[in-house]
Amino acid sequence: MIEKRLRKRLTNVTIAVIILSVVILMGGSFFSSSINSMAHDAMTNQMRLETKEYKNNIQNLKNAELQTLNTLSSFLEFGEMIDATAFSNGLYHSTSHNQFIQMGFFNQKEMGVYVDLDSLNNYVALTTMPEDLQAVIRRSLAGQEEISDFYYDPVLEETVFAYSVPVNRNGTIIGALFGVENISEIYAILDDTSFFNGQGNIYLIDQEGNFLIQSKTPMIQEQFNSVFDKDYISDENETTIKTALNTNEEVFSTMTYKNADYQIFFEPVEIQNWYLFSVNTAKTINESFHQIYLITRWSFILVLTIVILFILYGYQLLRKNSQRLIRAAYYDAFTGAYNTTRFNEKLEVTLEKTNNCCVIAFNIHAFKFINEIFGHEQANQLLLKIKEILDTHMQPGEYFCRDSADLFYILLLEEDRDIVKQRLEHILQEIIEDNMEKHPNYQITFYCGIAFKKNDVDQSTNRSTIMTHVMFALNKARTLPQNAIWFYDTELHKIETLDNYIESHMRQALQKEEFKLYLQPKVDLETNRLAGAEALVRWELEDGRILYPNHFIPLFEENGFCVDLDFYMLEKVCQQIRHWIDEGITPIPISINQSKLVFYDPHYIDRLIDIVSRYDVPPHLITLEILERMALEKTDELEKCFEVIRAKGIKISMDDFGTGYSSLNSLARLTIDELKIDRGFLLEAAKGEGKQKVILEKIVELTKSFSMKTVIEGVETSKHDAFAKELHCDYGQGYYYNKPLAAKDFDTIYMRKKDD
Ligand code: C2E
Ligand code: MG
Ligand code: MG
Repeated sequence: MIEKRLRKRLTNVTIAVIILSVVILMGGSFFSSSINSMAHDAMTNQMRLETKEYKNNIQNLKNAELQTLNTLSSFLEFGEMIDATAFSNGLYHSTSHNQFIQMGFFNQKEMGVYVDLDSLNNYVALTTMPEDLQAVIRRSLAGQEEISDFYYDPVLEETVFAYSVPVNRNGTIIGALFGVENISEIYAILDDTSFFNGQGNIYLIDQEGNFLIQSKTPMIQEQFNSVFDKDYISDENETTIKTALNTNEEVFSTMTYKNADYQIFFEPVEIQNWYLFSVNTAKTINESFHQIYLITRWSFILVLTIVILFILYGYQLLRKNSQRLIRAAYYDAFTGAYNTTRFNEKLEVTLEKTNNCCVIAFNIHAFKFINEIFGHEQANQLLLKIKEILDTHMQPGEYFCRDSADLFYILLLEEDRDIVKQRLEHILQEIIEDNMEKHPNYQITFYCGIAFKKNDVDQSTNRSTIMTHVMFALNKARTLPQNAIWFYDTELHKIETLDNYIESHMRQALQKEEFKLYLQPKVDLETNRLAGAEALVRWELEDGRILYPNHFIPLFEENGFCVDLDFYMLEKVCQQIRHWIDEGITPIPISINQSKLVFYDPHYIDRLIDIVSRYDVPPHLITLEILERMALEKTDELEKCFEVIRAKGIKISMDDFGTGYSSLNSLARLTIDELKIDRGFLLEAAKGEGKQKVILEKIVELTKSFSMKTVIEGVETSKHDAFAKELHCDYGQGYYYNKPLAAKDFDTIYMRKKDD
């Protein structure tokens, strides 16, 4: 039970630890992933904002330059044919105030003039200009404000790009004013040294991914024309990026370079087909966030480890504590063997599982003596040795325990008496031999009780019955010679139970008059007529069962109750005789069995006389039967006692002659009136064996010479009757004449009124 409870507690703790660990881990990973995603979000936002800043700067540049051209277009003098000198002067003057390295005007006839920082070119055809410039001018002639792609100008010997605006006069587009700017103007805007705290690159690319302007601090040093040239961007990402580029949308993605992932971002500039392409070169995530992430992650791992260690420590403590509790609850503190609680629990389980088992209980004879003589230390050593030896003898599924002091119980999975006895003897022998080595002068002995589950007829033996049985057997073994093994036996137990009933109910039964007077006739062998009767007691139980004297007389003799019973029976006999006399029936003498205990009662004679005289019974009708073996003890006292009794007229008979140490001596020393020869004697002699018959003849002869009467007991057949007569015995008693009868029945059969 306790073990189950503790095991449950440990399981609960284990589950709690696991759940807690999972929760902490989940919490930790949730926390770190949210930190991670927060960092990611923060980073992408920063990337987007910073890139848009660049985009704004480019757009601002574009707007400013277009604004410049528009302003110029409004105050410069244009005509069908331009005053080239004045115009160029004006332009020349303005170029020094703006970023343009070349400016010019073309009319609808595509003829125009342009100036650069140090030259003026009059009346040139548009077709002589670089193609990209031609394209934007033509679009402005059609009314558009334009900005060109980058192109290389062989005259300027530079990579440049051009702005162009239409020139209106009175609602009519008369031409287009353009300005050419060095690419370095954009390049200056794209200075990414401060981009992303110096942790990023920014490029200008076109919609196809071709690089237009490189980063100042490119992470990747290799030369390549397009973002998609190398396999730094996975196919999947490339598709997503290209789709976004084609639809002029911004897009975040990742690229892998030297096994590290980098965040990339594409932002449409909304000028031509330009895109800003930015790279977060600080690995996957922003470095500072990454650090926070790492710190958080390690903090969680640390906290988790501490919590787990703490819980494990608690668990360990609990386990130790549980083990201590289990030990205290289940083990005998001294020997380390199981205690009875554990034994009983296990026994219950075993009895449910199998019928083929037995329990042994054993004790050391005079353990107290061992304690006193050899000292506690030695006695303790002996107990420890017993435990050790028992351990080696247990087979799988078998176990034992120490109850208290030197009492041990063993459960063996055996059903054969002989095997159990043999195994037990081996165990005991081993213990005895071990002890002999230490104390050669003292041999310890044991007494053992054994009970099998199968002893129980209905097979319902539970723990308490088998333990009662084994203790019963142990108590029986205690009364036997040393090293006795007693097997529990159902019949014996019944008798024992009856003994308990008898002892606890005897007084009450006497009060309730459950003890009944039975009479067995004594027949005069000469006349074959009724000569008397023997009073025999029967205990009629409330449920109608009858108990015979051999069930309870020996016990009453032990516990002293026989004295009360004998006086009670004496009174019943006197009442019977009184009844006969009062009824006018000729009374017959009655013999009453007297236990030896009555003679130890100092008032015996007084009480005897008192009862006899109370019923006014002629004393010669009373015969007291004394057992032969009793006559051997205290012969002198008895003789004195008999003298007084006989003087009062009461007779004395010696019962069961021949069962004890039949001594004619005792006959000679005691003055008695009658000798009852035991049934056993008759049986032997009647077999016709010479010696016995001769002895019997001599005994009868001798009694006659002492003027004593002889009664032969146990006459069961006509042959016995004939034999008794042949011996010249005076009286016969036995089933042949009649069995002991209830007083009433005896009356009916034998006792008649004088005049009947
Ligand atoms: P006991 O005094 O020798 O009584 C004779 C016993 O032999 C009686 O047994 C009787 O029933 C039995 N018996 C008689 N005829 C025959 C026969 O033909 N064959 C066999 N096999 N047995 C026969 P019971 O009544 O069982 O009494 C047993 C003993 O108990 C008596 O032996 C006597 O010693 C004692 N007892 C009986 N009643 C009393 C009593 O009231 N007080 C005392 N102290 N002892 C009594
Ligand atoms: Mg008798
Ligand atoms: Mg007898």
